[in-house]
Amino acid sequence: MQFVFASNNLNKIKEIQLLLLEEITILSLEDIGCFEEIPETASTIEGNAILKAKHVTEKYGYFCFADDTGLEVDALNGEPGVYSARYAGEQKNADDNMDKLLTNLADKKNRNAQFKTVICLNLNGNQHLFEGIIKGKIINEKRGTEGFGYDPIFIPNGYSKTFAEMPITEKSKISHRGLAVEKLINFLNKIELK
Ligand code: IMP
Repeated sequence: MQFVFASNNLNKIKEIQLLLLEEITILSLEDIGCFEEIPETASTIEGNAILKAKHVTEKYGYFCFADDTGLEVDALNGEPGVYSARYAGEQKNADDNMDKLLTNLADKKNRNAQFKTVICLNLNGNQHLFEGIIKGKIINEKRGTEGFGYDPIFIPNGYSKTFAEMPITEKSKISHRGLAVEKLINFLNKIELK
């Protein structure tokens, strides 16, 4: 059975493939000849995951799953949320994004935030959503060199290290993406056994 993962991030694809039963093959967008930019114009994280998966299923006819992630900060009413990648502009620069967030939080006492990943799977005409959330706090300065995006300023609850101070294996066990992927994999491995 074949699924397209609507991504060209080969690391993500490899990671997921390794966790699946052998009978399930994951194809990238490149594998199916999809080189156009897929619209990410929804106003929610769920909406964008749905849009991306829908694009591939409708245009290419494959079973498909797509993910979308955002950082939701309580004191900013859930911002940057769906706009996390381009919070400080279309250059999509992680340092600029973190600087903007720290400036906007400068006078805020409430530092609570969460990362949220939603995966949308289109299978046999049905849509399935899998969500992963990790709650934590935004600190005042950047710490650590691992990871990407907002990792240097996010400390998950119950930890004293930022995501950027953890090895990827430690982060993946507790992360938003790790949790959503685990739910997807449990689902896929079960349907294959039927
Ligand atoms: P995407 O939907 O996976 O492309 O994520 C959108 C944006 O959210 C990224 O460009 C990052 O700014 C941020 N982001 C997503 N996942 C993470 C993460 O695990 N750590 C830090 N930032 C993340």
